[in-house]
Amino acid sequence: MKKIITLSFLLFLGAFSVYWLNRARTIQLFGEIYARVETDQKVVALTIDDGPNEKIDTVLAILRSHNVKATFFPIGNLMEKQPNAVAKIVNEGHEVGNHSYTHRILSLKSYKTIRQEIEPTDVLLRRAGYQGDIHFRPPYGMKIFMLPLYLKLNNRKTIIWDVSPEGDPELNEDATKLSKFVIDETTNGSIILLHPMNDGRDASLQSLDPIIRGLKAKGFVFKTVSELLKLDRS
Ligand SMILES: [Zn+2]
Repeated sequence: MKKIITLSFLLFLGAFSVYWLNRARTIQLFGEIYARVETDQKVVALTIDDGPNEKIDTVLAILRSHNVKATFFPIGNLMEKQPNAVAKIVNEGHEVGNHSYTHRILSLKSYKTIRQEIEPTDVLLRRAGYQGDIHFRPPYGMKIFMLPLYLKLNNRKTIIWDVSPEGDPELNEDATKLSKFVIDETTNGSIILLHPMNDGRDASLQSLDPIIRGLKAKGFVFKTVSELLKLDRS
């Protein structure tokens, strides 16, 4: 009986560790992961995930009107459907990163599958003219076993976030509440996550302008993720 209890406890502990590691924002098994950076400067990175789709022009126009450079994590197979969209993003001086080819959960996937998700997406980003470092953002933020190993072996940084309002149903349908939350929660070195091009995320799209205005009014300067990482003193 005692053995069964011990075994059950160990199994529970193991399962919990896997669950926790898969979602942890600051720790992964291998390689560098950032949810924010340590800095005294009032700097912030705005990251825009998924797409691209026909809403890209609206997003780019808002960023352009404030002279803000953001970091986009587009999905490979959607980039193929909108061949010019990423080139437009790159031409306007924004950073782009890798968010996989099919946007499936990569936890527990084989090394080969992970390569097939990441490497063709890199090719598309380069084909669009992007020349900087390509960081990786795991779909759904989940990242266990072979994914961090791949990223470590290939010297890639994993970029998560520390300000993400869209998971909260109280916020995600109301641009005013959503932007207030982001402006209140952002601290020096924060990484903000939004999905303004996705279906059902009209409030996120509408919140872009007030978020930028509000953070600028508080003295924040917008940086791309690579620029932000250079300021990390941790
Ligand atoms: Zn995504």
